[in-house]
Amino acid sequence: MINLKTFEVWFITGSQHLYGEETLNQVAEHSKQLAAALDSASQIPVRVVFKPTVKTTEEIYATIQEANIAENVIGIITWMHTFSPAKMWIRGLSILKKPMLHLHTQFNRDIPWSSIDMDFMNLNQSAHGDREFGFMVSRMRKNRKVVVGHWQDEEVLTQIGSWTRAAAGWHDWQGAKFARFGDNMRYVAVTDGDKVEAELKFGFAVNSYGIGDLVALIDSVSEEAIDGLLNEYESTYTLADDLKRGGARHSSVYEAAKIELGLRKFLEDGNFKGFTDTFEDLHGMVQLPGLAVQRLLADGYGFAGEGDWKTVALVRAFKVMGSGLPGGNAFMEDYTYHFDPNNALVLGSHMLEVDASLASGKASLEVHPLGIGGKADPARLVFNVAGGAALNASLIDMGNRFRLLVNEVEAVEPQNDLPNLPVARVLWKPLPDMKTGCAAWIYAGGAHHTAYSQNLNAEVIQDFADMADIEFLRIGKGTTIESFRNELRWNEVAYK
Ligand code: MN
Repeated sequence: MINLKTFEVWFITGSQHLYGEETLNQVAEHSKQLAAALDSASQIPVRVVFKPTVKTTEEIYATIQEANIAENVIGIITWMHTFSPAKMWIRGLSILKKPMLHLHTQFNRDIPWSSIDMDFMNLNQSAHGDREFGFMVSRMRKNRKVVVGHWQDEEVLTQIGSWTRAAAGWHDWQGAKFARFGDNMRYVAVTDGDKVEAELKFGFAVNSYGIGDLVALIDSVSEEAIDGLLNEYESTYTLADDLKRGGARHSSVYEAAKIELGLRKFLEDGNFKGFTDTFEDLHGMVQLPGLAVQRLLADGYGFAGEGDWKTVALVRAFKVMGSGLPGGNAFMEDYTYHFDPNNALVLGSHMLEVDASLASGKASLEVHPLGIGGKADPARLVFNVAGGAALNASLIDMGNRFRLLVNEVEAVEPQNDLPNLPVARVLWKPLPDMKTGCAAWIYAGGAHHTAYSQNLNAEVIQDFADMADIEFLRIGKGTTIESFRNELRWNEVAYK
């Protein structure tokens, strides 16, 4: 998966020449200490790089231009240790192309009551310097994240870390390519949308490929490669004897390995970060790609079924944002309800393609008939998923804008065996409760397909939506139908 330490955010401190050499030296010294502390903070997964204090319109413009161009820079953090008259920032901010976090902090945590004098006041004036800067960013209608507190504060470091994760996901989308085998599942609405607008807004491209191009690759896979992959399956998963080499039903697993190798080659050759297919257009494939998709998802590719390219992209972004954290990010579908009033639950799953990165414990590789698609019995991994805080997110095309919708959920460990349901599955309780969560989701037009996260919270997703400059809605603790419906009504006006 992606190593987030290859990315940088630049720490840029604003000031002016008014204060003289000695004060500016102290400003630079303090900024270096701050940048180094953020760089080494365990909560922040990317590099934080100190940049020399900017004191003029020209210095600000030059630094931001350099940040725009630098390939591995995913955003900037700004801080006004002293006062930096904000008209100096107009030219630079007007060309800023990358996400910005405004850190409203102060070098000293405490006021030194017995020694404080006017020199101290002149040096430590972010309380008003950051307000001047904040005005200009608001005046220019620029999105940014504002984080407030002392720079050694645990919560501040966590918030900065979350924002850098969102920035890494955003960076990954720029120039990303997603492949779509065939088109949309026929007549389905929510999975479709405006791919031109998406490329303009999000920076990724979605293009279609004929399934025959993939089938040709699958058919040219070498026997040695298949053999190697079969060894890996047998050592990684639990398999029934008749699925192993020489077994009566081994040919299903053999076909699944061929499909995986062909798909991998297609994605690697084309430098794709994710893909989607549709079971209505799999001519020439012997079985539906189940196992292959599950394993590619676990390796960091985005995927969603039935031509759903928006969820493909979202799943991929989530995987980048959650990189290095315990837990997984996955393609999910709300499938069936348990309406017990004392224990209401959603059962999430898909026909086959549930992300193997969610598996708690060793997965079992199984072959079963599938009553849809008209193909041979497909191989798939079957497993349960751990409980705990999680969320579902859906990216929707509302016609005049994209909407990113989040529902915070509480996942629960399955209490019952499901001997006749041979697919991977997840159980969760939507927040704030089943009825409110589901009603709010439907009022918002949320899809049945989602990106499901065990390690990202709503704040990261909100930061991400702000970077994309799209609508963000959260359903969670504290949501009421009355206030949520008002938010929907008011947003219709805000985005008109
Ligand atoms: Mn589906």
